[in-house]
Amino acid sequence: MTEHLMKILIVGDVHVGKTAFIHRYVDGQFNSMYKATVGVDFSVKVLDWSDKEKVKLHLWDIAGQERFGSMTRVYYKGALGCVVMFDVTNSSSFLKCLHWKRDVDKKVMLPNGGPIPCILLANKCDLSQRAVSAESIDTFGKDNGFITWMETSVKENKNVGEAMRRLVEKILSVQSGLDPLEPRSGDTVNLQQNSELNTERKCC
Ligand code: GDP
Ligand code: MG
Repeated sequence: MTEHLMKILIVGDVHVGKTAFIHRYVDGQFNSMYKATVGVDFSVKVLDWSDKEKVKLHLWDIAGQERFGSMTRVYYKGALGCVVMFDVTNSSSFLKCLHWKRDVDKKVMLPNGGPIPCILLANKCDLSQRAVSAESIDTFGKDNGFITWMETSVKENKNVGEAMRRLVEKILSVQSGLDPLEPRSGDTVNLQQNSELNTERKCC
């Protein structure tokens, strides 16, 4: 049995649903209130990926530090994938995704020098008062190197598992060196290399 360990970042503006997303994905629950934990924390989710492979995800929630607009390199260190999230009812949270993507690309890269796979999530799609069109999300996602974008509703449990599956799939294909989209695709990424990730810790 091979176990792949992946540090995944969840970034985006405050109140878009990042903490709710992690909570839903890891614990299968949705609450309307989440305390803004200050400091760095991650949650763990283990996936039985195939007969021979397990994927252990460390999901890093930026936990209240969104207001600073960027994170330190230390926080991003060793990440192999990223979720950039906005709220479809809040256009300024969408505009900020460019800033978040650039912050990630500037501060973390794969061992082969390529950018880490990022998925763009348009959360709260259960709400009717949309402020961002699918067309502009699509254009933005393509222009800025996202692997894909998806609408999610953490509240209604729509596309939460599916979005993470797409991201993990991409990380594994980059790791196998088969992904033609990544620069220097011949290099392999050693997912076990991130020794600082070996300490187990479960977020609140
Ligand atoms: P964070 O600041 O990005 O971590 O956002 P939170 O996870 O704390 O969520 C902010 C608020 O949005 C909370 O009241 C959540 O219950 C709510 N929320 C999160 N996801 C959804 C969703 O998919 N639909 C709706 N309607 N509300 C959501
Ligand atoms: Mg939060």
